[in-house]
Amino acid sequence: MGKINVLDEQLANQIAAGEVVERPSSVVKELVENAVDAGSTTIDIVIEEGGLTLVRVTDNGSGIEADDIEKAFFRHATSKLSTSKDLFRIASLGFRGEALPSIAAVAKVECVSAVDASGLGKRLVIEGGSVRKVEDANTPQGTDIAVRDLFYNTPARLKYMKSIQTEIGHIADYVNRLALAHPGIAFTLKHNGNVLLRTLGTGDRLQAFAAVYGTTAAKAMLIVSGDHPDYTLSGYISKPEQTRANRNGITIVVNGRYIKSYIINQAIIQAYHTLLPINRFPMIVLELGMHPSLLDVNVHPSKMEVRFSKEPELRQFVEECVAKALGKQRHIPGPAPA
Ligand code: ADP
Ligand code: MG
Repeated sequence: MGKINVLDEQLANQIAAGEVVERPSSVVKELVENAVDAGSTTIDIVIEEGGLTLVRVTDNGSGIEADDIEKAFFRHATSKLSTSKDLFRIASLGFRGEALPSIAAVAKVECVSAVDASGLGKRLVIEGGSVRKVEDANTPQGTDIAVRDLFYNTPARLKYMKSIQTEIGHIADYVNRLALAHPGIAFTLKHNGNVLLRTLGTGDRLQAFAAVYGTTAAKAMLIVSGDHPDYTLSGYISKPEQTRANRNGITIVVNGRYIKSYIINQAIIQAYHTLLPINRFPMIVLELGMHPSLLDVNVHPSKMEVRFSKEPELRQFVEECVAKALGKQRHIPGPAPA
């Protein structure tokens, strides 16, 4: 007899959870991304105690079919990918089919969903990877997932959590970025009953920017846009006088995904060049569009890092667009909405 075991699904999910669910903000990220992928126009996020006692995300998207609600929590179960070809042209934020089983492995989850307005939906309760209940539920179209007592069964991970303030800081940062990435979606973020963010979902990115950073900052932004055979670019950049002491005011969005990119940051800083005081950074929200085949998002489970296939061209394009916008500094965009 050999010594090798194939791990059972529950244990495999707990191991994967270590990677996918690092802290409460990872839960928020995965649930909100699913809501975006479902075509939602409103996404409400309710957090208690930095997300350790509750993360709840309610959307009005396409919902989960009654027959699929248990399957959605299986490992590698996804509606977003079916052949390996799809992997090279990913248009959705998710595709790995890992989030729901990973979250359910380390928390107590209740998922209620319906695919239309008939009121006929399903409720699933799953705790520590074990399904406790599946029943009919009267619920509006969309999905409502509540994640309670995160890491209740993984004490080592729980001990590692920082203060409530730190955890909600990570959550708010992520939700702010996603609201900037998706100005067409109305986001609400509440923590312990306090509203931390509310966007209107009108599609106006400057309005979303004002909701995150305030109207004064929004009024000081310049429009940036550009076209290229392979790329489109649009967004806002701050005037060189409006700077910050760190790069946290830079949000890069590629095909609807908030990403971190050293090369794009470099292109931006290069475009400002001597206009920026030393160790000061601009505020930026840039959305890049490109064919999904020009982008590899399957680099890391969090999908925050991506690889671009034509890096030098992209870098030059971004730099030129930002430099052009700065050259037009006297051209001030219309007043920011309140
Ligand atoms: P992935 O997003 O990579 O497909 P997940 O584990 O996050 O994997 O979700 C599994 C599946 O559950 C999704 O592919 C989708 O079909 C369904 N699902 C999850 N959340 C939602 C939601 N908010 N609205 C509609 N469907 C959802
Ligand atoms: Mg997902």
